[in-house]
Amino acid sequence: MIDSYGRDINYLRISVTDLCNLKCTYCMSEKGIRKKNHDDILSLEQIACIAEAAVKLGVTKIRLTGGEPLVRRGILDLVQDIASLKAKGLKDLGLTTNGVLLKNYASELKKRGLDRVNISIDTMDGAKYKEITRGGKVEDVLAGIQAAKEAKLFPLKLNVVLIGGFNDDEIEDFVNLTADSEIDVRFIELMPIGEAGDWDREHFLASNEILKRVPRLIPLPFKGHGTVARMYKLPNSKGKVGIISPLSSHFCNYCNRIRITPDGKLKPCLHSNIELDIRNYYGDLERFLSDGILGKPHKHCIQSSEYEPIRRNMHEIGG
Ligand code: SAM
Ligand code: SF4
Repeated sequence: MIDSYGRDINYLRISVTDLCNLKCTYCMSEKGIRKKNHDDILSLEQIACIAEAAVKLGVTKIRLTGGEPLVRRGILDLVQDIASLKAKGLKDLGLTTNGVLLKNYASELKKRGLDRVNISIDTMDGAKYKEITRGGKVEDVLAGIQAAKEAKLFPLKLNVVLIGGFNDDEIEDFVNLTADSEIDVRFIELMPIGEAGDWDREHFLASNEILKRVPRLIPLPFKGHGTVARMYKLPNSKGKVGIISPLSSHFCNYCNRIRITPDGKLKPCLHSNIELDIRNYYGDLERFLSDGILGKPHKHCIQSSEYEPIRRNMHEIGG
């Protein structure tokens, strides 16, 4: 469906839970979160119906996220239900995960119709991983990456949030992962959302830091609509490197996505506090989605004085 500014909105991100088995310092408060009442969270059936209505409106790409999607009970059945929409026009079903549980899920997810996964890993150092995630084990994620490769959940993308003073010394190590392996590494600028909203400026690095640290990266042609990453590669590498710069060079003109939160709110733009509540639509899911698409702002204004910080943390929105 075309929005009010001529963009084809064909990508839906659904956050299936706000719960998580990690507590990354930039995403979740140390106290963790209070579990919501069952009735305040979309049921798996409601999520599948939203996905179906979205496909009717022209959505061809759906990504499940969270919180941590693999902690939601019934996730495999949900993947299967949504994958069945491929008969009705869905082309691509992906999932973003911290990878901790992926070793146990990868092959079954593939069997149920998942096409691919993005795995978040901000450092490959065990002690630093434990620190940033407040207790996670990096070996679990590495095992998850291996399982995803074996299950052929391709293209396999690793998400690395760039944090000044924390992982900028590992930029080259991450880039080198793409040399011999069909893995894409995507560096994402840390965004001042939720917990990270009052972090010191020194932690927010512009993504051109990657090109300063690894000047051998070769730019690849920009694909335009729906592309949020600028792509590069090392000479003769198997994988690619993506640089996602929502702050230093926003990609609003190419944005093709809307988001659904676990509590049934539609967010037309990640960087706006505008939300539509499914409860106001009494089962008319197509109107819910089309109102959200038509209400999508022209662009965000993070760097202007009018910017209102995003109140929710990313685990509630689905990054
Ligand atoms: N739990 C899953 C994971 O970590 O991949 C899925 C949800 S998580 C909210 C999705 C992505 O958002 C992760 O790659 C995470 O690193 C990223 N993220 C969370 N807070 C962020 C922030 N303030 N700035 C940039 N990326 C953020
Ligand atoms: Fe959990 Fe993902 Fe947020 Fe980390 S970034 S706390 S893994 S939702």
